[in-house]
Amino acid sequence: MTRSSSDPQSTGTASQPVLSGGPERAASLDEALSAAPDLDTRLRLIAGQIEGRVAFSTSVGIEDQAVFAGIASAGLPFDVFTLDTGRHFPETYETLEATTARYGRSIRVVFPDAQEVEALVARDGIMGFRQAVENRISCCDVRKVRPLNKALAGAAGWITGLRREQSAGRAHVPFAEWDAKLNLVKLNPIADWSLETLEQYIESNTVPVNPLHAQGFPSIGCQPCTRAIRAGEDIRAGRWWWENEEGKECGLHNRPKVKEAAA
Ligand code: SF4
Repeated sequence: MTRSSSDPQSTGTASQPVLSGGPERAASLDEALSAAPDLDTRLRLIAGQIEGRVAFSTSVGIEDQAVFAGIASAGLPFDVFTLDTGRHFPETYETLEATTARYGRSIRVVFPDAQEVEALVARDGIMGFRQAVENRISCCDVRKVRPLNKALAGAAGWITGLRREQSAGRAHVPFAEWDAKLNLVKLNPIADWSLETLEQYIESNTVPVNPLHAQGFPSIGCQPCTRAIRAGEDIRAGRWWWENEEGKECGLHNRPKVKEAAA
């Protein structure tokens, strides 16, 4: 029987499965993951240490492609899904198709609530996210955050492809941290990877990647909200480029500022 996360007897060690709950457990897993030598070991550690459903949300971007390759190659039973906002580049859908064909493993496609999208577009217009930051946040909320929260409901762990190098806001991303809001352990198994390490992994494992990466798009989101970047620009400068730098996250990976300041 699965114990609840608040069960004081749930005291797993590195050799025993740990349960989903609590910042202490997340800290212990963070330490174990930081000592693990490679992605395969880290993913197997996650599978062995977390009891319950572990979800992996892929954007089909290059980081997530590497993580998915690791998951698929190891045959790990994670719940892999992607959010279809309805506004992706055609190349993103082609990459999704090529990926499932390459690994012979399906990726669950999660859609936003149709009525919520209709109401949003009726209120703000089809390109309303360019008119005001509030509109953009509403659009990300309806098309991404709510579907994500729905897909993660009941999960014990959530794997992402976040890397510390990606932006100043991600500079302190840990390997594992307790997400009290979602009531799960958030896991970032390639948090410490450099771009060079990532590209080497992709090349040596012949992982399919979105062709837009080679056209100046290091970070690929929705088509109307992503542009290619120029030499010297921040990796995420092409996302919502009409807004100020501060707070340029879609809400999927927001981290508490106090925690980042303390890290
Ligand atoms: S990235 Fe743009 S189109 Fe996509 S959900 Fe956010 S505001 Fe909407």
